[in-house]
Amino acid sequence: MSHFAFCVLGSGSSGNCSLLKINESKWIMIDAGFSMRQTKERMRTHNICMDEVGDVLLTHLDRDHFNPAWCRTLLNRGIFVHLHERHVDRGIRAGLDPKIMRPFTTSIDFEHLHVETVHMAHDVLGTVGFIFNYAQCQTRFGFATDLGRVPQSLLDTFTSLDMLAFESNYDPTMQRASGRPDFLQDRIMGGGGHLSNEESLAAVKHIAENSNLQHIVLLHLSRQCNASAIIRDLYQDHLAHLYDCVTITDQDRCSRLLRLEKQPTSLF
Ligand SMILES: [Zn+2]
Repeated sequence: MSHFAFCVLGSGSSGNCSLLKINESKWIMIDAGFSMRQTKERMRTHNICMDEVGDVLLTHLDRDHFNPAWCRTLLNRGIFVHLHERHVDRGIRAGLDPKIMRPFTTSIDFEHLHVETVHMAHDVLGTVGFIFNYAQCQTRFGFATDLGRVPQSLLDTFTSLDMLAFESNYDPTMQRASGRPDFLQDRIMGGGGHLSNEESLAAVKHIAENSNLQHIVLLHLSRQCNASAIIRDLYQDHLAHLYDCVTITDQDRCSRLLRLEKQPTSLF
């Protein structure tokens, strides 16, 4: 059986961090936006310790996705940090040592895992989406957050997925009523910031039609401009057959551990 495990330690504008593991390999950390103390505390929820983390993948280097306090620990532990080549200068400025930086452009390869990457609009340098391919069991997991908009390249590559983790940032009515300054609302809603619940749902629906999703994990909910009840209602109304697959993540709490179970595919 395939043992593909994933959890979100927390997701939102105050910090993002997720963990992914294939079989007995080490955990891969996706983003490191919390303090060390908070990360370790949340990892204890699932009895995971830092010694079990082998690599870090960064979607981008905004402060809620990479906390520079990690630089020394990552260097001391020899943990490689995989980041898009466009983010390397920013990584150096944040204090990452080039010795542990592993820049990528289109893909990353681990021992049993091939990771395709999709570059997407978000502020100036953009952000990166990942598709984790575990060929032995034909398992595919797509991960994308902080998208300004959903590019066609994402819809073209996020196919045949078993699991999807995807941003669902704000409810437009709550956003407009938030009292936030216009420039901030424009940045969030103007195609270079975040996805509304409706934009996210439309993409998830499209992806689901070309996949066999066991889990849909919704990321980066705005604390001020979103509510899980609104998202639940949307799925109930528009994607009812997938309602039970949905996990809505929290800024302050670790998600449950999600597993994918698939039989290994015979080569003959
Ligand atoms: Zn973010």
